[in-house]
Parts: sequence; C-alpha cells; structure tokens
Amino acid sequence: MAVDSNLSSPLGPPACEKDAKALRFIEEMTRNADTVQENLLAEILARNSNTEYLRRFNLGGATDRDTFKTKIPIITYEDLQPEIQRIADGDRSPILSAHPISEFLTSSGTSAGERKLMPTIREELDRRQLLYSLLMPVMNLYVPGLDKGKGLYFLFVKSETKTPGGLPARPVLTSYYKSEHFRSRPYDPYNVYTSPNEAILCPDSFQSMYTQMLCGLLDRLSVVRVGAVFASGLLRAIRFLQLHWSRFAHDIEFGCLDFEITDRSIRQCMSGIIKPDPALAEFIRQECKSEYWERIITRIWPNTKYIDVIVTGAMAQYIPTLEYYSGGLPMACTMYASSECYFGLNLNPMSKPSEVSYTIMPNMAYFEFIPLGGTKAVELVDVKIGKEYELVVTTYAGLCRYRVGDILRVTGFHNSAPQFHFVRRKNVLLSIDSDKTDESELQKAVENASRLLHEECGSRVAEYTSYADTSTIPGHYVLYWELLVRDGARQPSHETLTRCCLEMEESLNSVYRQSRVADNSVGPLEIRVVRNGTFEELMDYAISRGASINQYKVPRCVNFTPIVELLDSRVVSAHFSPALPHWTPERRRR
Ligand code: AMP
Repeated sequence: MAVDSNLSSPLGPPACEKDAKALRFIEEMTRNADTVQENLLAEILARNSNTEYLRRFNLGGATDRDTFKTKIPIITYEDLQPEIQRIADGDRSPILSAHPISEFLTSSGTSAGERKLMPTIREELDRRQLLYSLLMPVMNLYVPGLDKGKGLYFLFVKSETKTPGGLPARPVLTSYYKSEHFRSRPYDPYNVYTSPNEAILCPDSFQSMYTQMLCGLLDRLSVVRVGAVFASGLLRAIRFLQLHWSRFAHDIEFGCLDFEITDRSIRQCMSGIIKPDPALAEFIRQECKSEYWERIITRIWPNTKYIDVIVTGAMAQYIPTLEYYSGGLPMACTMYASSECYFGLNLNPMSKPSEVSYTIMPNMAYFEFIPLGGTKAVELVDVKIGKEYELVVTTYAGLCRYRVGDILRVTGFHNSAPQFHFVRRKNVLLSIDSDKTDESELQKAVENASRLLHEECGSRVAEYTSYADTSTIPGHYVLYWELLVRDGARQPSHETLTRCCLEMEESLNSVYRQSRVADNSVGPLEIRVVRNGTFEELMDYAISRGASINQYKVPRCVNFTPIVELLDSRVVSAHFSPALPHWTPERRRR
C-alpha cells in the first residue's frame, strides 16, 4: 500500500517510508547531477592531493574540473600497471589513494591473460551498499506485494587469493557477500531470500548451488522473484535442476540432505529447514521427469512475478532461452556496475530488455564520456541523446580518468542525469559467462594450436572464425577451421584435433579457464573443421551483401544466423576439448 501522499515521489508513490527516502535521494542526485559531480571531483582531488599519482601532474592544489582535465591524462589499466603492482607487492605509501587500499577487486576484464586488479578502499563498500539500497524502492513502484514473499536468488562466492603484499584479491561480489553489510543485513520484508547465508558463502560451487536450489524448492510457494546476477547464471541453475531433480526429490521426501553436502555450516543450518514432505517430492518428480521444460520456472514457482537477471550486453544472447523457461515473465535488469565502481540503476526495471537504460548516479564517482571517434571527454550532463560514448571514471579509490572499456548510448535523461543503453564492451569477441576473449587472445590461441597441428601432421590452419554457441548449457566456444593439408602431409587425426582444442583452451585467459574449471560456466571448446573453399564462400556471401572486395576481412567471430548456417552446412568433422585446462586461483606474475 502506498504511504502518505506528501511522501510521494515524481517516480511514483513509494511503498513505504524507507522507499520514500530512497526515491527522494534519487531525485536529489539526478536533479543536481552537475553540482554533485563538481563537488565529488573536488572532494576526491582534495583528499588525494598528496598521493604520488596526483602530485606527478602538478595540480598545485587545484580541485576544479578544468585544471583536472588539462593536466591529468586519460588512461587505461596498462598505464597504471606499475603502480598497481607496487601496491599489490606491499607498498603502503599513498600511491593512488590517501585512504589505504583495503583489497583488490579482480575484474573479469583481463590484462596479459590475468584478471585486472582494481584497487578499492573500505568506504567504497558503503557506496555500493547505497546503490543496492535504491533497487527495491524502484522495483516496488512497479511490482506490488514483494514484501509478501521471498526472492530465490542464486548467489555465489568465488575463490580468493592474497597478493604478495597480503591484500585480498577477489571478485567484487565475493567481497560484498562476505562483508558485514551483506551478512548482517537488517531484516527487510522486501528483501528476504530463500538462500541461507551459509549456502551463499560456501566456497564449493556444487554444495552452494545444491543447497540454494533445495531451499528454493522447499519454499516454492513463497517465491515471488527468481534471479541471479547474470542470465547465464540462472540458466546454469535450471540446468542443475535438470541434472539433479531426483536427488532433490529424495531429500525432500525423507527430510535428509544429500551425502555430497559436507559443509558443516550448511548441514547445521539445513537441519532446521528440511522436513519430510512426500507430496512436494512427488510434485517435483512429476514436473521434472518429462522432456518438456517449457515454463519450468512458473510451474515450480507459480507466484514468480519477474526474473531478476542482467540480460543486457553480452547476456542478450540468453533472452530466448530464458523466455522459454520462464513463460515470458518480465526480465528486470536492475543495475549497471563493475569492479572499478558501481555506476547506476534502471529506473524502469520492467522495460523490455532491448529498451533497458541505466541512469548513472552522479554520487558514485566522477564520470566523463569520450564520444565514439572523438578524443575530448565531456561531462555527465553534457552528453547528447542518440550519441555513443566510452565511459571514463575517476573514483575515490584512486582511479583517475580511467577508461572502463564500455560503450554506451544516451537514450534520455532523468532530470539532469543521462540514461544509457549498454551497447557493448570494447574489443570483446567471444563471451559465454563472465569470460571475455578479444581478437588477439583468440589469434594467439589459434596460432598455438596450429603449431601443434603442424608438428603432429604437417597441416596448418588456413582460415578460422568463431562462434559463441549458447544452445547448450553451459555454452561453449566453437572454432571453425579450414585446414591447409599440403601434399605429403597427413590428414590430422581426431586425437590431434581434440588436443588442439585443449591447447586453445590452455592459451585463453584466466577468466576463461576459471569458468571452465571452477565455475563450470563454460563448456569444452569445439573445433569444427569445414571443407576447403568454405571461407571463400563466406567472402562471396559478404560481397553479395555489399562488402567491398578490396577491404574484405574474414570476421573472427560470427553470429549472423545465415552465416553460421552456411558454416555448419560445410562441417566435415567436429572435435571437443577432452580435458580441463589448467587453472589455479594464483596469479601468474608478469
Ligand atoms: P567486472 O569488472 O568483472 O565486474 O565487469 C564489469 C563489466 O560487466 C562492466 O564494465 C560491463 O562491461 C559489464 N556489465 C556490468 N553490468 C552490466 C549490465 N547491467 N549490462 C551489461 N553489461 C554489464
């Protein structure tokens, strides 16, 4: 029920007083976006004026935007690598930030094959928490009654390490779920999860997933929203149910917990939750045993009002599959964030995936935007509707004019804060889950595999392209290879080609290998050998559609259905990686 009308907000009538406060905050920030940005930059510059990094540029104590923009260069991660390495090695002097770096957040973006290390400071947790606290007040404007049920969210921690200097290095969500902010969160009727903290915090991904799914099944009628961070994660959970439903039914029938769940704290907390429920066990068997899994989400959790997952950017490839499993429930993309900084939220979370826009919150960091094809960065409030920009951030933790690598298009404004459609991440060719493979990484991997092929049978890869195949769960990389088999060379054997698959996987970056080994979120890489002349046909096809013959280049990744179909119709053999590549949480030194 809406509260007192004098608490109402231009965004809509808030569901409770707490929501009214959050919506007022959004209004205040977005109305005064430019002033908030100006003050925030001045605060960062004043606070960090004695850092080694800022002193290098002789700001002379200035905290204004003009001086900042004239004197400080726009940079990428590689420019900052020496400073980051020193901090990681234990140098505690104020290099980037006056506040001590509390930990490194390991981005899914990589540099030299390893996750980028993003410095962060303790208070950034509060800033992230603040953005999280705005999500439900906005959602409550669109979906009533969320306080009457629970969220079934599949949330996971990942492995973490320490840098040589002793700082934790872990993904931002692992840092958040392990923080007091999350673990000791006060009860909020609008934010109750079916998953116990013990399950979310269990580092073993099988035990964590098993327990979270089991709790979701036990409490199925309370569930009003189902989600994961990314669409790929939710699909993985559905696949998990497909593989293990009979074990769940057994546990529920007898009120026991599967033998593979050995984590002490999970067993302890589940002993108070699980009770024999033969009727529910029978229901699960009936629903899951058939081949027919359409609308499985609404069949098992019939009170679900929406799916909460990110389906923008690389995740858009999963929309049709999610629609199939959810019977067309709305998909809410609630926020846009990264390890560098949390950026903003979707003020219209029930919008169609293709129309999702994120409103950047001007209190999170100082934002600048480089127009695509241009060089001069513009302010947050000065971006133009319809134009595309690359995002640049200056954070409290000490990133200064740092290129995030995301391309955004302006779709409108909420008050004076712009709203952006996420267009793409720069230089990403292939992505299944959080893995991101760029063209040069793929090229290197093909070269390494091609060398192996040559050593074993004298053949080479003449042409190649790739495809992210998400028709399987988990999805996997497909490489189409046209081979050059010289006179006298032997035809490569199936064994050799499977070894080439593994060689490619070994050559890909650590996020890819972690996804394969620890998260099981990417399936074995596949090579499909196509018959000779296929890539010439591909060129003919492109030219028939208007490509210039002089400038034609083989696309290193394809996703246009007719092209994929053409390639598939020319396949002579298919080969999968026979084993897992190597991966350990430890980073390789440069
Ligand atoms: P990471 O640094 O690993 O946390 O990854 C952050 C990146 O994920 C961002 O820079 C984006 O490229 C992508 N990302 C985060 N949120 C979204 C979103 N809502 N839609 C599309 N891409 C996103």
